[in-house]
Amino acid sequence: MSDIEFIRSQLATHPDFPKKGIVFLDIFPILRNPIAFETLITHLTHRITSTTVFKSPTRKIDVVVGLDARGFLLGPIIALRLCAAFVPVRKRGKLPGQCVSASYEKEYGTDVFEMQADAIAPGQSVVVIDDLIATGGSAKAAGELIAKQGGKTLEYLFIIELLFLKGAAQLDAPVYSVIQSE
Ligand code: IMP
Repeated sequence: MSDIEFIRSQLATHPDFPKKGIVFLDIFPILRNPIAFETLITHLTHRITSTTVFKSPTRKIDVVVGLDARGFLLGPIIALRLCAAFVPVRKRGKLPGQCVSASYEKEYGTDVFEMQADAIAPGQSVVVIDDLIATGGSAKAAGELIAKQGGKTLEYLFIIELLFLKGAAQLDAPVYSVIQSE
């Protein structure tokens, strides 16, 4: 079994969560299995160090941005392995101090993402991490926050990409996903 097949085998699906008609893909069983979690982190880190980093003028990733909330479980570990900063993007009202904000479309109405205003310096090379990309709305808002601070997003990385929603087309940099779901 390949690493990707192994990671895929650990995913759980929950029909009708959080509401009827939605099949929720659950990454938490990966985190419960230390070998699977290590395989996932190593896979994503290897992708960045073998490919993504060559898009950076300095050949270094300066900042890993993790999205609220499951991006917080992956991003800090990957940031440490890259000797990069970790920066969270949170829902409005959760971060102290001056923040930049960007709104995005949810199924019902809009939501707002924020990042601390001094989190990224102009010209820094950034990657964005989350568990799953669906419509791409939340990742797009994160990209806007990075661009507002003068950062350069090199890649958006996810465990799962729902290909049929074409979220990658919304974004200002390429998407890398470990698992693609039709
Ligand atoms: P998007 O903004 O439409 O791309 O939705 C992506 C966000 O919704 C991410 O933060 C995901 O964590 C969350 N999300 C949507 N569907 C699922 C799912 O099936 N499993 C886990 N997270 C999901």
